[in-house]
Amino acid sequence: MGSAYRQDRQDTVQRVKEAADIVEVIGEHVSLKRAGVNLKGLCPFHSEKTPSFTVRADRQTYHCFGCGEGGDVFSFMMQYHRMAFAEALKELARRYNVPLPEEVGTREELAKARQREALYAANDKAAALYHDQLLHGREAEGARRYLAERGIPAEYISRFRLGYAPEQWDFLAKALTREKIAPAIATEAGLLVAKDNGGHYDRFRQRVLFPIISLTGRVVGFGGRILGEGAPKYLNSPESPIFDKGRTLFGLYQNREAIRHSRKCLVVEGNFDLLSLVVHGIENVVAPLGTALTAPHVRTMRGYCDEAYLLFDGDSAGLKAAMRAVPLFLGEQLAAKVVVLPEKHDPDTFIRAHGKDGLLALLNEAKSLPEFVFDALARQHGLGVEGKSRIVSELRAITTAISDRDLQRTLFAGHFAKKLGLPPDVLLGGDTTPKAAPAPIAKPTGQPRNLTPNEEKLFGFLLVHPECIADFLAAGLEESVSSDLGQEILQALKATPANAAGPERILDLIHGPGKSSLSRLLVTTPVYADEVKNEAAQEMVAWLKKNSLKLRKERLLRDISAAHQSQDEALWVRLVAQKKELDEAIGG
Ligand SMILES: [Zn+2]
Repeated sequence: MGSAYRQDRQDTVQRVKEAADIVEVIGEHVSLKRAGVNLKGLCPFHSEKTPSFTVRADRQTYHCFGCGEGGDVFSFMMQYHRMAFAEALKELARRYNVPLPEEVGTREELAKARQREALYAANDKAAALYHDQLLHGREAEGARRYLAERGIPAEYISRFRLGYAPEQWDFLAKALTREKIAPAIATEAGLLVAKDNGGHYDRFRQRVLFPIISLTGRVVGFGGRILGEGAPKYLNSPESPIFDKGRTLFGLYQNREAIRHSRKCLVVEGNFDLLSLVVHGIENVVAPLGTALTAPHVRTMRGYCDEAYLLFDGDSAGLKAAMRAVPLFLGEQLAAKVVVLPEKHDPDTFIRAHGKDGLLALLNEAKSLPEFVFDALARQHGLGVEGKSRIVSELRAITTAISDRDLQRTLFAGHFAKKLGLPPDVLLGGDTTPKAAPAPIAKPTGQPRNLTPNEEKLFGFLLVHPECIADFLAAGLEESVSSDLGQEILQALKATPANAAGPERILDLIHGPGKSSLSRLLVTTPVYADEVKNEAAQEMVAWLKKNSLKLRKERLLRDISAAHQSQDEALWVRLVAQKKELDEAIGG
């Protein structure tokens, strides 16, 4: 692994970076609007009310002024899709048709990427086997009939890659062995279950299977519905290094274009509900994976739509789910409405009985989520003194559960307190200390390694005009940089040839918390017109010269005082003479 290897790697990374379009890559998951030279949107990495997530196309950089996340197209892929660097590189290379000569990455990155790749491959193979089984297997006759009875045409069976796991303990275990997929990998992927006495058996048996696809198009897990009687009725893959239920939504991959296009996202509970809606022409729909909605789910949706429609059952379980969802949607600033289905209906039975138009009519009547919750509570308890106090205690249970999220909690309490005509403190669980009152939006936490204001100005300029670095160094740049991060950036700038690619290249050389300061500089530093640029450069060089004289004088004064203390008269005389020279230089 000599420097030739490193050079290769650097070249490949650079080629992929130049080919990739950061606005396109991020714009797929975040709604971006133009704001001057930048694009802005709501941050996919933290909850916020007003957009502070900024993408700058000419520098191929993004930065969030709310939480400080920032970087280049690779960091975005790694943060958003939770990929290792090697995976992000491979994915972008594939997408933008850049040939990868060989595997690129450190040994650790490669090991991590290989392990995840093996899990994807096992899932992908299983999906193919199950799909083939559903289409052609003799044992799948019942499953095919079941899907036909539920009105799912062949076209949708292949679009969603539906499958069937036959009623056998070793159908997949045997098939994967033939495919040379290690049982340990299949077990980690959740496809097989290890027996206590050694050996493995299939997790999914006698089930219609829905592959769950990540936003990068890979199979990360399965949801399975039992065919006939048996328990549990629904079974999902367990979580794995590639499958996080709290972040994944079934159907988002297949339906994302429809959601983005309509700016609305319907949320149903079951996979079959989702499929049925799609079959009937309503394609902007997702389903969580057997878990309650989470803030990351809502934040992900927010990147694709302006409004969510929750299709809940009208019973008390639906009300509880709606109550729990209120703070999530308030916190993520995504408008949500509740669609109440007539009694004894779920989305699947409803659309089969009333069709697309019937459901669209229900959507039109949908109530906003907080209104829905309030009205339901008011109906249940009344708005007398007694009723209000019952409502308060129900709502308090929710605020307590979200007490660690200031923004959600305060918005939630504020909203309902107003409706009840009570002070918000009443809903904040009896904790009336002022601490809970104003909701600060996450601010970047204090970074000890921050740049000084002068360093910000100097480096902001040098990032865009690296050709000026020689003049700046000659004027004493090194002396004027006092922060650790400043020194780090300076070394990186010195190591980068002035004409190398764009200023964002420097992002590759800075790691850790400094990356955030750097991405911020990259999105904020203006482009200087040539004449302004020269003027600015001269101004900065002049300041650097003056500052380095000032620093030298400070050092001399300290040395003079030390010489005086130690009664070293010869040194003292010499230093005082130097100071006199320096004073003349500063004065003149
Ligand atoms: Zn953020």
